[in-house]
Amino acid sequence: MDKHVTHWIGGAPQESADGRRAPVYNPASGQITGEVEMAGPKDVDAAVAAARAAFPGWRDTPLSQRVKTLFRFRELLNRDREKLAAAISSEHGKVFSDALGEVERGLEVVDFACGIPHLLKGGFSENVSRGVDAWSVHQPVGVAVGITPFNFPAMVPLWMFPVAIACGNTFVLKPSEKDPSASLLLAGLWAEAGLPEGVFNVVHGDKTAVDALLEHRDVAAVSFVGSTPIARYVYRTAADHGKRVQALGGAKNHMVVLPDADLDQAADAAVSAGFGSAGERCMAISAVAVVDSVADELVARIRERVSRLLVGPGDDDRSEMGPLVTREHRDKVASYLESGVEEGATLAVDGRVHPVLGGATEGFWLGPSLLDHVTSSMACYRDEIFGPVLSVVRVSGYEEALQLVDDNPYGNGTAVFTKDGGAARRFQNEVQVGMVGINVPIPVPMAYYSFGGWKQSLFGDSHVHGTEGVHFYTRTKAVTARWSDPSKRPSDGVDLGFPTNG
Ligand code: NAD
Repeated sequence: MDKHVTHWIGGAPQESADGRRAPVYNPASGQITGEVEMAGPKDVDAAVAAARAAFPGWRDTPLSQRVKTLFRFRELLNRDREKLAAAISSEHGKVFSDALGEVERGLEVVDFACGIPHLLKGGFSENVSRGVDAWSVHQPVGVAVGITPFNFPAMVPLWMFPVAIACGNTFVLKPSEKDPSASLLLAGLWAEAGLPEGVFNVVHGDKTAVDALLEHRDVAAVSFVGSTPIARYVYRTAADHGKRVQALGGAKNHMVVLPDADLDQAADAAVSAGFGSAGERCMAISAVAVVDSVADELVARIRERVSRLLVGPGDDDRSEMGPLVTREHRDKVASYLESGVEEGATLAVDGRVHPVLGGATEGFWLGPSLLDHVTSSMACYRDEIFGPVLSVVRVSGYEEALQLVDDNPYGNGTAVFTKDGGAARRFQNEVQVGMVGINVPIPVPMAYYSFGGWKQSLFGDSHVHGTEGVHFYTRTKAVTARWSDPSKRPSDGVDLGFPTNG
């Protein structure tokens, strides 16, 4: 055990003033590889104070200078993407290529944020009244906070802080305590890029740190990504303390397979989107709603592909799927195989007996599993499993599939597989879900669109990154100004009537 992950406050690593630490694991070996500082109110105060002190200077830094810093950060992030991916893989468990993919998708948000001068342009109207002009400006909100989940330790923070910082805010990140190293690497890159001290800060920790941030009077905005119960709590608590808040929650993403779909394409998509990152993605497919007439054939094709998946440590080039993040999570996910069978589902593939490359046994391993004949009343369907378990729900046709998706309390992502453009068009129009794929199983929007679900997958009204991200991290001010023509009478005299625009 040699790793010691500190906070990052005011441009430098900081130990916790509150003295708590937590272990950090390598999920592939099950071993503790280091420890992370756990913030209490004193650490949170220090981080927010650093961000608050840095705000006026950063807000007033010319746009061109801010953009130069962002470009430098972009280049450094690109330079160190493999280093970041290796750190992510060793603490999260996902395979190296997958970790590299999340860094690439995060980098795209930095690309987007580099165009901030264009995005911050306000509007101007000349002569709204005689000699009167009006315009709007978008100003930063102040100290913004990001609270992020374990499953994308680089990408989800990168959804938030490049946009927040580009807009002129300062930032405090509270990443997941389960895989904390990526956030410190990112902090180091900001320092190397020349970002002024205090503009970007990191505090590690759990509920204690989160509560101190949500209640802090100097925090203006809170972005949260994590499970639905915590998202709801963060939304309520932050709003109660006068902050603007966007809180993205959990998911249960359905893939709808219509009878005319290309079944090989659908089976490939179900396996890729169901088992990539061991199912620990908020956009993972967890339920396949397939029309009866092609269900047996689709299940056969999925089974055949699942049996060939190579499960192993993230740093083994052959591995396609790694372990789960913690032992407790692995055991919880495995429990759904038992409860599913008890409630009447068929265990078509049992991941508990799937071989692990190199024969590793100590890590938090669970192979890919397939439950068939699942119904909407079963726990394995109702709950977000967040692991490598794919549930097949057989439906009579399009209407029943759509009803199933719409009745689900989550509304993050969904995908329809069909060769019928009219059916696809109808589905994307009707379905009550925030992100929709058509023959695309993980429809994560590009950085210049905004990411976010509907229903219990998002509390608040702003999605992250893209123009909604810029909107979230800015306040609009409308200005009305009169400059009298020097050649004319300077004032119209006293008038107590409500101003109109004659
Ligand atoms: P989580 O809700 O347990 O934790 C998220 C963050 O909240 C972490 O920083 C954690 O330290 C903090 N936290 C945990 N318990 C808390 C509490 N009681 N009070 C205050 N803060 C608390 O989520 P996780 O297990 O890290 O991540 C997986 C979840 O995140 C899944 O539900 C997944 O669907 C969701 N997720 C959603 C999206 C999305 O865009 N909607 C993206 C990624 C992950």
